[in-house]
Amino acid sequence: MARKMLIDGELSKSGEEEAHFDFDLFVIGAGSGGVRAARFSAQSGAKVGICELPFHPISSEVIGGIGGTCVIRGCVPKKILVYGASFKAELEDARNFGWELNERIDFNWKKLLHKKTEEIVRLNGIYKRLLSNAGVKMYEGEGKTVGPNEVEVTQLDGTKICYSAKHILIATGSRAQRPAIPGQELAITSDEALSLEELPRRVVILGGGYIAVEFASIWCGMGATVDLFFRKELPLRGFDDEMRAVVARNLEARGINLHPRTTLTELVKTENGIKVVTDHGEELMADAVLFATGRIPNTKRLNLKAVGVELDNVGAVKVDDYSRTNVPSIWAIGDVTNRMNLTPVALMEGTCFAKTVFGGQPCKADYSNIPCAVFCIPPLSVVGLSEEQAIEQAKGDISIFTSTFNPMKNSISGRQEKTIMKLVVDAETDKVIGASMSGPDAPEIMQGIAIALKCGATKAQFDSTVGIHPSAAEEFVTMRSVSRRIAAGKPKTNL
Ligand code: NDP
Repeated sequence: MARKMLIDGELSKSGEEEAHFDFDLFVIGAGSGGVRAARFSAQSGAKVGICELPFHPISSEVIGGIGGTCVIRGCVPKKILVYGASFKAELEDARNFGWELNERIDFNWKKLLHKKTEEIVRLNGIYKRLLSNAGVKMYEGEGKTVGPNEVEVTQLDGTKICYSAKHILIATGSRAQRPAIPGQELAITSDEALSLEELPRRVVILGGGYIAVEFASIWCGMGATVDLFFRKELPLRGFDDEMRAVVARNLEARGINLHPRTTLTELVKTENGIKVVTDHGEELMADAVLFATGRIPNTKRLNLKAVGVELDNVGAVKVDDYSRTNVPSIWAIGDVTNRMNLTPVALMEGTCFAKTVFGGQPCKADYSNIPCAVFCIPPLSVVGLSEEQAIEQAKGDISIFTSTFNPMKNSISGRQEKTIMKLVVDAETDKVIGASMSGPDAPEIMQGIAIALKCGATKAQFDSTVGIHPSAAEEFVTMRSVSRRIAAGKPKTNL
């Protein structure tokens, strides 16, 4: 390893001293962030080892698998199920476009499950090849730190092997957390929800975040009765309130039963399924109860405190802007640091880590204008500030531009479902500081809008951009009149 680490003015030790370590870098956890950091570090000339548990595509007992949560039991399989669930409404809409669908149409859950598993196995193989092609040495087993430069890997047969490394990277992600209510063991989390043997007919979901609304859409689209319970007035706390209201309306219109301001107090196993009791005293029966109540960092079994690494009060690894912990040889990226828990963010942090430590280019992740999407049906996607955040954070007045319309397709299909778009503009500078959309293709459209925001585009530049006609996206460049102007410092409404 000839390269030197340059961070905070510190230089790495000489090549001779480095030779004492088995590796320049040992990564614990081969999810999106870990794989990215391992590959890019190896491509910069580092000798890299990585450990990860093997995965079983159906069983949720083993949390692991090269590719991590996103590939094995998160974004990718979820999106496959969203695609699968979307066809029901598409087929309904097709009738007014002239399609005669006279014969009974059945949905075969097991077939989709099988196809999904095949795809996950394929991607798992691709990730393994990416690592081996980059020269990264892979170990199957559970890793933990046993010193500032030592990682112990416990293999499946119980054998423990210790490796030394100049740098250790913690990239172990997060796992679903369960509220402690009686009968909680009867509920599943998203891990199991992605691989259920049978498609449930009656589903109860607790939570109002990403996973809750996404699975509500998936199961509803597949024909189940879905009851969604959440504590707030609207789902998706933290998103723009107006968007949340539209999402709630659309979920209801698609047939999902919403139970705002309600939580679950007990689950009881009965002959007829799981009896679900709410804090309003309601009772209903379910074949599956999903807890989608947030995720916690995976740090419990890493022995980090014993080696002196500081964790925060939820167990997340504390890091500086370069993803370095208080122990100089130990670093952490991704969900385990609980910064912004999204796959592309973990990828960015992994890239910055590799550049900083092995590329000779100190690099901080840039958390501004990160777009994201909730893959409910229809989806929500946002970038920059919500209206409420802008009111709180903007120094001057803000202008809000909104467009609510019936997508062209609906005028033929007859579907009653509005699309809404919003631009939040700094009235003084004319810069667009937030954009959001609830409607078909919102994530595909928002990715481009995010580039504009990253470049600091003004509303005038949006207006001077020629639209693509006919499309929903063109509304983003044709919102001429301001919907409302809000004076700086107006108090935020909490829904
Ligand atoms: P979120 O943090 O998004 O939402 C958690 C939800 O659970 C909130 O509605 C919260 O309610 C509720 N909740 C928490 N504790 C309880 C409790 N004890 N009783 C009742 N309700 C409770 O978590 P998710 O599990 O949906 O997703 C985890 C993370 O995974 C997300 O934050 C996101 O970072 C990532 N993710 C991203 C996706 C994407 O990019 N499309 C998809 C899926 C996950 P309240 O609002 O009242 O606190």
